[in-house]
Amino acid sequence: MRVGILGGGQLGRMLALAAYPLGVRCTVLDPAAEACAGQVCPHVRGDFDDFQALYQLVQVSDVVTYEFENVPVESVRWLAERVPVYPPPRALEVSQDRIAEKSFFRDQGIPTPAFAAVDERHDFDAALRAIGMPAVLKTRRFGYDGKGQAVIHTPADADRAWEKLGGRPLILEAFVPFDRELSLLAVRGRDGHAVTYPLVENEHRDGILHRSVAPAGDAAEELNERAAEYAARVLAELDYVGVLAIEWFQDGPRLLANEMAPRVHNSGHWSIEGAHVGQFENHVRAVCGLPLGRADAVGWSAMFNFIGTVPPAADVLGHPDAHLHDYGKTARPGRKVGHVTLRAGSAEELAEKLPEWSRAFDRPPQ
Ligand code: AMP
Repeated sequence: MRVGILGGGQLGRMLALAAYPLGVRCTVLDPAAEACAGQVCPHVRGDFDDFQALYQLVQVSDVVTYEFENVPVESVRWLAERVPVYPPPRALEVSQDRIAEKSFFRDQGIPTPAFAAVDERHDFDAALRAIGMPAVLKTRRFGYDGKGQAVIHTPADADRAWEKLGGRPLILEAFVPFDRELSLLAVRGRDGHAVTYPLVENEHRDGILHRSVAPAGDAAEELNERAAEYAARVLAELDYVGVLAIEWFQDGPRLLANEMAPRVHNSGHWSIEGAHVGQFENHVRAVCGLPLGRADAVGWSAMFNFIGTVPPAADVLGHPDAHLHDYGKTARPGRKVGHVTLRAGSAEELAEKLPEWSRAFDRPPQ
């Protein structure tokens, strides 16, 4: 089997690496000459709306997938007329627009923070009155890692937020005083069979994922079941194939959907070593029509992102529990350049070691 991947960043790279042992060969399409997936598999260089480059990808692919959600839907639809594309283009469409996404959740009976579409200043004022403060103003499209957002506590904040973001299609959301952020990854195969990873607890800094712990501590069975049931609704409604990630706010007993990503996800990196079959391998299996592997956790894992620079390998590997992933990217402030996953055999061992791991790897973004 040959898989074409739109996007050649670290997610494409880890997909390609997971595909090799299965006898599956990947090719990535990415405009950047230095796309890091290109170090481990063939790389077609071109923009995502360059139809010659897309045609080149079709020539070497039995199936096409994507590793980030901001690829043009028209390109994906064009590809889908020529070769199977998973996840389905509709999933991409829904997740590219925060209003479409939150409306989709609501239509599926999945709770979300209160939200309203904002185009003009008068919509903004009306939405602020309806939703109240604090609230979060976000761009509807192409926002990621906390970019294009402003938290509003006071009318002066509202003016500042409008100055920063006004003029683009926006969404206003109620600010959720969450206890913690969770995510759930589920995978559905071409035959409709699905498996679900356990809920993961995520910590963000400046809007960028910084640490994940899996399975999430103290996540009651009921919470896991509820999240899995919500994810199952999304998978079924979209006739989904591949890995789907849904990010949640937990506020007491409430689980509110923040957003979904129709792709492998940073909060699932722990699963490479921390689950029976990791998200990258299961995504490859799904899109290739192969049987899925078990998604339950093996032990307890903590994953720390390396932002800006990767510490020296010897320092990371000096921790006997550490698994290092260096994406082969050039160091740059704020850039995800690698991660480390550390695995413990029991919840007690995790509780004992997490402070030490955090001291070693909980570095401020660089
Ligand atoms: P997003 O790009 O929507 O994932 O937002 C990035 C981060 O901002 C989230 O991971 C949260 O930490 C925070 N955030 C986003 N939306 C809200 C909200 N409605 N209430 C509270 N915090 C939020």
